Amino acid sequence: MEKYDAIIIGAGMSGMAAAIRLAMFDKKVIVLERHYELGGLNSFYKRGKRNLDVGLHALTNFAPKKTPGKPLTKLLKQLRLPYETFKINEQKGSQIVFPDHTLNFNNEIEFFISEIEKEFPDQVEGFRQLLHKIENYNETALDNEYLPAKEVVRHFITNESLLEMIFCPLLIYGSAWENDMDFSQFVIMFKSIFLEGFCRSEGGVRTIISSLKERMDAVGAELQMKTGVKEIISKDNHVVGVLTEKDEEIHAPLILSCTGFPETLKLTGLEEKLPRTGAMSFTETILFLKEKPVDLGQDSSIIFYNNRPHYQYQKSESYYDHESAVLCFSNNFNTDDYDEGIARVTFIANYDQWKKLERKEYVAKKKDVLQDSIAILKNHLPKWDGQFEFKDVFSPTTITRYTSRFGGAVYGSPDKTRDGRTPIDGLVIMGTDQGFLGIIGSILSGISMANYHGLQS
Ligand SMILES: Cc1cc2nc3c(=O)[nH]c(=O)nc-3n(C[C@H](O)[C@H](O)[C@H](O)COP(=O)(O)OP(=O)(O)OC[C@H]3O[C@@H](n4cnc5c(N)ncnc54)[C@H](O)[C@@H]3O)c2cc1C
Repeated sequence: MEKYDAIIIGAGMSGMAAAIRLAMFDKKVIVLERHYELGGLNSFYKRGKRNLDVGLHALTNFAPKKTPGKPLTKLLKQLRLPYETFKINEQKGSQIVFPDHTLNFNNEIEFFISEIEKEFPDQVEGFRQLLHKIENYNETALDNEYLPAKEVVRHFITNESLLEMIFCPLLIYGSAWENDMDFSQFVIMFKSIFLEGFCRSEGGVRTIISSLKERMDAVGAELQMKTGVKEIISKDNHVVGVLTEKDEEIHAPLILSCTGFPETLKLTGLEEKLPRTGAMSFTETILFLKEKPVDLGQDSSIIFYNNRPHYQYQKSESYYDHESAVLCFSNNFNTDDYDEGIARVTFIANYDQWKKLERKEYVAKKKDVLQDSIAILKNHLPKWDGQFEFKDVFSPTTITRYTSRFGGAVYGSPDKTRDGRTPIDGLVIMGTDQGFLGIIGSILSGISMANYHGLQS
C-alpha cells in the first residue's frame, strides 16, 4: 500500500494549487480526481472544432504586473509562476442593469463612483465611507465572526436600489447564502470585483489549468484521474487514508479536500449533522454567433441584469428565473482570441425541480432556457437577428454530474469552515467551502490551507 504525506481529493483549482505548494516543499503528494478532466467547477470541453469553458465568465482580482500584495500577484508568487503565465486581459467594462437605473463599472473605482454620482448623487459620501471601511477590513482573518453584510452596508448606503445594485454582482458571483452574504465574503467579493476588477485569460480556463498542471508535474505532485474517493478512513478521530472507487487504499496523515464540506464529511461515514447543502445553482447557455457582440451593438464584457424592483438572489421557485441574469460577452476583453462571437447567459435555477425531470421533459426544459436566453440577449444585442452557429445549455444536474457537488451548489454549503478544520483531525476543507471561491479565490484557498495545515511544523 502506497503511503504519502498528503492526499488531495479533487483536482479543482484549490486541489491543484495545494498539491503544487506541498510538493514544492518536498512533500509526497497525490491528487485523486473522479472526473476525466481537471478543473472541477471550472473546466472545459470540446464540441467539434469549438473549445468551450464550463464556467469561466471572467477572472476576478485583476492586478497589473508587479503590484505587490494583491491576490493575483500573491498566488503567482506562491506558486512560482511568472505573471505572463495566465495571459491576462482586462475587461472593457461591465454594467449593472436594473429597471430604473444602470451603473457602468470597469477596473477603476473612481469611474464607478462617478456613475453612482450620476444616478444616486446623495449616496456618494456614504459610498466613500463604505469604501474606507472595506479598504481597512481584514476579510481573511480566520477568526472573523459571521455578520449579515446588508445590515452593515445599510449604515452607509441608505438608498435600497443602490444597495441592491451593489450586492447584485457580488451575490451572483460568490454567495452561498440567499439574498445576503457574510460581511467578510462581501468584502472579498467587493475588492475582487469593484476594486481589482475583471479580466480573462487568453485561451480561457485551459490556459490556467494547463499552467497549474505543468507546475504540478514540475514539482512532482502525482495525479490519478478517473479515481474517485469512496471512503475517508480514520482511526481515533484522525485520518489514516482513503479507499478509492477502484478499491485501492492509500494512506496519509493529512487529507485536503476540495469536494465540498458536506460531500467530504459524507465520505467519512458521518450521516448526521452534515453541513447544509447550498441552495444556489444555475443554468448556463452558451451561444456562438456569426458576428462579434461589438458588431451587434454590445461592447460590455459582463452585464448583471435584473428586471425586478428588488434583486432576488434565491433558489428559483420554478426551474429557472429569467427575471434576472448574467450576460457575458467573452469577446469584449482587451484581446479577443475567438473567431466567432460568444454570448453566455446564466439564470438562477432550482436543482430539485431539474432533478425530477424525465429525459424528454429535461430536453424540453433546456429548450425553454435557450429561448429565454435568446429573448434577453436580443434586448442587449440590438442588431442581432437571433440566429446562432452553435449552442449548448447546461443545468444544475449537469453541475452535479461533473463535479459531484450536492444540489448542483456552485458556491457550496452556506456552512463554511474558515480555517479548513473538520471534526476529524488531519481532514481539511479547501476551496469553495473554506469560503474562498471563484478561480482566484479557490487557488488562494488551496495555497493557504496547504501552508497552514501542511507546511507549518
Ligand atoms: C457555471 C459556472 C460559472 C462560473 N463562473 C466563474 C467565473 O466566471 N469566474 C470565476 O472565478 N469562477 C467562476 N465559477 C466558480 C469557480 O468555478 C469555482 O468557484 C471554483 O472553480 C471552485 O473550485 P474548488 O477548488 O472549490 O473545487 P471544485 O471546482 O468544486 O472541484 C472539486 C473537484 O473534486 C472532484 N471530486 C468530487 N468528489 C470527488 C471524489 N469523491 N473523489 C475524487 N474527486 C472528487 C470533482 O470532480 C472536482 O474536480 C463558475 C462556476 C460555474 C459552475
